[in-house]
Amino acid sequence: MPVVCARVHIGLWAPSDQCMEGSKTNASSTNSRPKGIIIFVKIDLHTHMLPEHWPDLRERYGYGGFVDIEHLGPCRARMMIDGSVFREIEDNCWSVGRRIEDCDRHGVTMQVISTVPVMFSYWAKPEHGHDLSQILNDHLASVVHRRPDRFMALGTLPLQSPELAIKELERCVRQLHMPGVQIGTHVDGKNLDDPSIIAVLEAAEAMNAAVFVHPWDMLGKERMSKYWLSWLVGMPTETALAICSVIFGGVLERLPRLRIGFAHGGGSFAGTIGRIEAGFHARPDLFTFGGRNPRSYLGRFFVDSLTHDADALRYLIRLVGANRVALGTDYPFPLGETEPGKMIHEMHDLSQEVKEQLLFKTAQEFLGI
Ligand SMILES: [Zn+2]
Repeated sequence: MPVVCARVHIGLWAPSDQCMEGSKTNASSTNSRPKGIIIFVKIDLHTHMLPEHWPDLRERYGYGGFVDIEHLGPCRARMMIDGSVFREIEDNCWSVGRRIEDCDRHGVTMQVISTVPVMFSYWAKPEHGHDLSQILNDHLASVVHRRPDRFMALGTLPLQSPELAIKELERCVRQLHMPGVQIGTHVDGKNLDDPSIIAVLEAAEAMNAAVFVHPWDMLGKERMSKYWLSWLVGMPTETALAICSVIFGGVLERLPRLRIGFAHGGGSFAGTIGRIEAGFHARPDLFTFGGRNPRSYLGRFFVDSLTHDADALRYLIRLVGANRVALGTDYPFPLGETEPGKMIHEMHDLSQEVKEQLLFKTAQEFLGI
């Protein structure tokens, strides 16, 4: 088991001069920077990383359905599931050096790394999900150990067993010094208001661990086989469903200190809040959680900034507050923001204060750093 450094503290600090704008001053002089010099620290809350190699899981567990990695050359590989290609990837998926080069190019100070959601494998036998989570978490922790100045990690949990998930959560927080975990929008068909998942969220609150929710295994697959619809429609819908589940399931009421965040700007939730609120008023008999108007929970949970649309981001900021929106890019995948923070930088109607909030301060609060 790797020994991992304690959490790195990030303040107004930059490891390379590319994290600075408005000045040619290098990072070593940031403590004495004159007033008016703008420094952008960027924490990218939403990035994915895989080990370069991992064991043959079919052989290890005795059945299929797991993801394998097949290297095609020094910089390219394919993620395979039972012999079929799931996704082609490049070395930026596993190479620490390549990722740091990309971060330096775009002024990203810190990447928060998490596994690729297809690796959640919540459908597997609990002991195998636990074993796989340990493999992935040990790898993520080893990356942080190697460059604690550039990476933090969110672990993955075997949520098919709340007991094992809490055990691994505890290991992630107490031994691997992770600030939190990434979980799926559902666990093998169970929404996030399922008692087994609430038990894990309760433990996360008690351990002061952040929970980042990412869509996976999208609903309605049989109708979304074309046009990348699972990614374009299924993912935002999954995320809206997850947010509704924690609101209407009373999770946010029961766990007031839980720091929970949702990928892709909260999916289609923001665009649907009016309808959701109208439904709450129209059919109060269906909402038994004893909570308030769903609109009143806006600002209670975090989202990332990955909306791909400046107006959508403006609306999101208006809806949940800049202090609940954190830069997230989905690096290194093609549906992410390829130049991290570019859209925020180019939104000239946002004040410097709001931009700093989006680029790193919200992530700091979410991660508890
Ligand atoms: Zn992602």
